[in-house]
Amino acid sequence: MGRSTPKFFKLIIAGILFSLMFKPAFGQKKILFITSNAEFYGNSKIPAANHFEEIVIPYHLFAKSGITVDFISPEGGAIPLGYINSSDSVQKKYLYDAVFMNKLKHTLNPKEVKAEEYSAVFYAGGGAAMFGVAQNETIQNITKKIYGANGVVAAICHGTAGLAYLKDDAGESLYKAKKITGFPNKFESSCFLGLCDGCPYPTFMKSVSNSTKNRPRRHAGRAGDPGMTLLEMTVVIMVMLTLITVLFFGVQAWKRGSDRAICIVHIQNVQKGVRSFSNLYGYVEGSNVSNLQNHVIGLGKFVDVAPVCPGQGTYSYGANFGTDTIPPTGELYAECSLKTSGEHEPPEHSDW
Ligand SMILES: [Zn+2]
Repeated sequence: MGRSTPKFFKLIIAGILFSLMFKPAFGQKKILFITSNAEFYGNSKIPAANHFEEIVIPYHLFAKSGITVDFISPEGGAIPLGYINSSDSVQKKYLYDAVFMNKLKHTLNPKEVKAEEYSAVFYAGGGAAMFGVAQNETIQNITKKIYGANGVVAAICHGTAGLAYLKDDAGESLYKAKKITGFPNKFESSCFLGLCDGCPYPTFMKSVSNSTKNRPRRHAGRAGDPGMTLLEMTVVIMVMLTLITVLFFGVQAWKRGSDRAICIVHIQNVQKGVRSFSNLYGYVEGSNVSNLQNHVIGLGKFVDVAPVCPGQGTYSYGANFGTDTIPPTGELYAECSLKTSGEHEPPEHSDW
């Protein structure tokens, strides 16, 4: 997915997921996708667009689960689309789907939307997402209402810019004390700062770094490694689906789903750790590295602490190909013992 897009627009996914999950809002099966009308980066003549794939893939998953998705943009109406890859089967399907494309042609004006009909908002990404969305007070109020009703607030990639000015009822930043993954500051500065007249992204990044300053530092591996993109996206969407589960199916199912999501994030972290380690030291897949697990996991290494499955599973490392072997593509280095019951395994990891 997305392999053909220019490097700095590749899907380095930034996902932020919030929820207060103890009062499920049953019976509300709608999700609001927030998109942008911006056709250029700020005042420049550089074309901007909404990221087609970042709209289509989540839309597809929600549609399959019987969840209705509506679209809004600050001004309503047709939105600019980009990063389209018609060789991808899902994108192709929707590109030629008249009903779906009609929704993008006629995105709703935020003023037409009743927040109480939605259980989640999703800020879609693409360069356009940085312009016109975050400052829109009607959109801010919609999100605030949904969040206040224990809904899910989610964003992908540069969609996170839309969160820049969101505050809760107490006036605190919505992402205060939350853990956030996203584009490194350095990357944002080099790519966007000159274009970003009035763009909320620098504000967002600064605010994020202030509000998360006291969190323990984690070893992030190699910044901006494009090989991690699909891996990130799968997890973000999976976690989002899990959070939405609680809205529709209740807390019991949520606990199971959340254990699963956490476990899969652990597996992902270890996988990223192994890949970062092998990139850094120049090992290819299948290489033998003695004590591989200890090179990857441990304080100050790629994964700070050995993960513990929240559902009482146990992890094995390299069980299928050797503990001291760099995993072949698609093979998981960490596996949870609960994977056999169809749980605690990433749904799609052929590219990991
Ligand atoms: Zn597990």
